Amino acid sequence: MSAFFSTVKQWFTRSPHETRNTNTKTTMTESKHIITRDQHSVSRKDISDNALKVLYRLNKAGYDAFLVGGGVRDILLGLHPKDFDITTNATPEQIRSLFRNSRIIGRRFKLVHIMFGRDIIEVATFRAHCDSNIEQAKEGMILRDNVYGTIEEDAERRDFTVNALYYSVKDFSVHDYCGGLTDLRKRQLRMIGDPETRYREDPVRMLRAVRLATKLNLSIEPKTLEPITKLAPLMEQVPAARLFEEYRKMFLSGKGEDTFKALQELGLLQKLFPATDTLLAEHQDFETFIHAALENTDKRIASDNTVNPAFLIAVFLWQPLLERAHQLETKGMNFNDAFFKSMGYMLSEQSRYISIPKRYSLVIRDIWALQVRLPQRFGKKVWSVLSHPRFRAAYDFLMLRAESDPSLREVADWWTKFQDADKATQQAMLPKNKRRKGKRRRKPKGND
Ligand code: ATP
Ligand code: MG
Repeated sequence: MSAFFSTVKQWFTRSPHETRNTNTKTTMTESKHIITRDQHSVSRKDISDNALKVLYRLNKAGYDAFLVGGGVRDILLGLHPKDFDITTNATPEQIRSLFRNSRIIGRRFKLVHIMFGRDIIEVATFRAHCDSNIEQAKEGMILRDNVYGTIEEDAERRDFTVNALYYSVKDFSVHDYCGGLTDLRKRQLRMIGDPETRYREDPVRMLRAVRLATKLNLSIEPKTLEPITKLAPLMEQVPAARLFEEYRKMFLSGKGEDTFKALQELGLLQKLFPATDTLLAEHQDFETFIHAALENTDKRIASDNTVNPAFLIAVFLWQPLLERAHQLETKGMNFNDAFFKSMGYMLSEQSRYISIPKRYSLVIRDIWALQVRLPQRFGKKVWSVLSHPRFRAAYDFLMLRAESDPSLREVADWWTKFQDADKATQQAMLPKNKRRKGKRRRKPKGND
């Protein structure tokens, strides 16, 4: 059983009274509320100048335009949004003609990216209800006519009620179509519409539920939480490249540890990192290692240090890699060959679920390969390890391994001291050139 504190149980039990008496309906007409400026906390001060520029220009050209999604939600929660999404009744072509610094992206559903140097504001046209005709249509005018809709329809096809809040700079009001404000007050994440249907439409919403609840410290409303474990196998239908993007968002936004626990408890980890999930149950020290790495990553993010998405994947696949290498060893291969052969195997197995771009799989290989080299502290090898571009990551990896494996303490401490020591100390730390062991002694002369 997982030694981690039960995050999911916490979701179920957090303020139980808050989830009762939920009269908020998700049908559009019944729950539309316009909240005037004096009754909400969204201020233009909290919105980036570029997002405001886009909103004003669209309004000036006669279109409706709203800030939506995380941008509004996070401000209402007193947080700083990481990006600002805008939605409008202007078509992509109309948006494009208003902004010279823009480009249309996407094929089935077009979006417009408006570039302000490195800052990109994404603008989407109100989207119509997902219906099977749209799903089946391949291309052409009919599809396009059906894809764009009204703001009410746009709200209904968003995932959670708290993500369907629209802020207008025309009158600074917030439009709430699905009861998102009530849910925000209750600090709960609730799926718009029937949760099971919405997860079946797009299984990534299960990951978004976990990620957003964890990131924003919201409870997941019981009906929204309930189908997840049963539907977790749907994750297999999601393209591996999209899952890599979700992996990044889940683990590189500062709440990786909590997210990991929740994914594990809901059965989602098994669908993302199956080899990891299986071995976690069998190896307490592997769990300790992962726990330490996630905690360390969250701390790095909190103090604005860089984190490479490759590092945690290297951690998650470490025990599976060792197991595979041991299997090959029992078949007669020497450990080094078995270890290096298993690296490629593990990476390609994992890529069936979450595709790992080559620039990251190369980093993972380096981190792993250096685990073999770090304990060998002889002569020139030490200098080539120290100057390796991945030394720092590999050393951090070793330090984390040492937390669950005391036999690595000595070598980890040695590297801690060695890398920062002056040249003289470093020389003194290196083993002296001893006579090579096993050198054949000359036969004493004249004995025959
Ligand atoms: P953050 O940007 O903080 O990670 P977000 O909710 O803004 O969170 P985005 O990926 O930027 O996430 O999406 C913007 C908005 O688009 C969401 O708030 C939601 O309304 C909608 N959305 C995103 N993904 C989905 C999805 N899979 N299904 C339905 N709506 C979605
Ligand atoms: Mg966003």
